[in-house]
Amino acid sequence: MQSRRQTADKRSIRLKPGMFRFCAASLLVFSGLAGPVSADINVTQLANDGVMVSDGETRILIDALVVEPYSVYGGLPVDVQPMFDNLTGPFSDIDLVLISHRHHEHNQPVYACQFMQKSSQTQLKTSEQVIGLMRERCREFVTTSPRVEVIDPLHGNPTVFEVGDARITVFPLSHGTQSYARIENFGHLIEMGGMRLLHIGDAAMSAEDFALAGLDSTQIDVALIPFWFFQPGPGNEVVTRFLGESRKIAVHIPPSEMDEVKAYMSESFPEVLILSKTLDKASFAPIPKTNP
Ligand SMILES: [Zn+2]
Repeated sequence: MQSRRQTADKRSIRLKPGMFRFCAASLLVFSGLAGPVSADINVTQLANDGVMVSDGETRILIDALVVEPYSVYGGLPVDVQPMFDNLTGPFSDIDLVLISHRHHEHNQPVYACQFMQKSSQTQLKTSEQVIGLMRERCREFVTTSPRVEVIDPLHGNPTVFEVGDARITVFPLSHGTQSYARIENFGHLIEMGGMRLLHIGDAAMSAEDFALAGLDSTQIDVALIPFWFFQPGPGNEVVTRFLGESRKIAVHIPPSEMDEVKAYMSESFPEVLILSKTLDKASFAPIPKTNP
């Protein structure tokens, strides 16, 4: 608990006048993407950095089997918990669950077991570390269900698969050094609706690691980024270098810091979206490619 607190403190944003400016987004839509062209991508905020993403056809949860608050991070509001319990609203008809890593504000094994056992068609593809913690709660289900799969993407050898009309690429993105070096953290690139959406979990603010993941050469249309990347420093360099042209949502914001973060972001990064409440939604339409 102590170390989690320290982590949370480190992430606390310190207000400074904006030092960086982004270009207006001008997005190229690649041909060859999975899914119907020109469908919107809808992002629904759940708990912490948990979201449901959908193109109206395929529905994917990322880091969204989080119900209880943990450390300074939020859980689901009381009025939304029944939706989780009953697989309704944003938790209905989920095709795929993705989980970036095993930390408790990204996945809660009791609830992950509950969700997966209640659903009938949802697939779960994640790391051995995440599955390992779930195994302690629902061993038989996790070890016997064909809907649960351990994946082991490596640098240069991502795990790529299709679910519904979405194509998903999973790749390692370091969580950090020292005690964090052992935490397996995944980046998820979801191609749907003719666009690419990126979720990075708790990726370290390391340009080297983003380059190693191949993000130098990948056009991202929508990026979900922990809010501390927007503080002056290495995170900001990562955002500018790799995600400068994407439309951005700042995530992983502790409820107690929400007002402070929103004030800072609206001054320094007014183009970055914040979905401050559970069930807040954003829709992203493909931006037509403009001829030079
Ligand atoms: Zn973490």
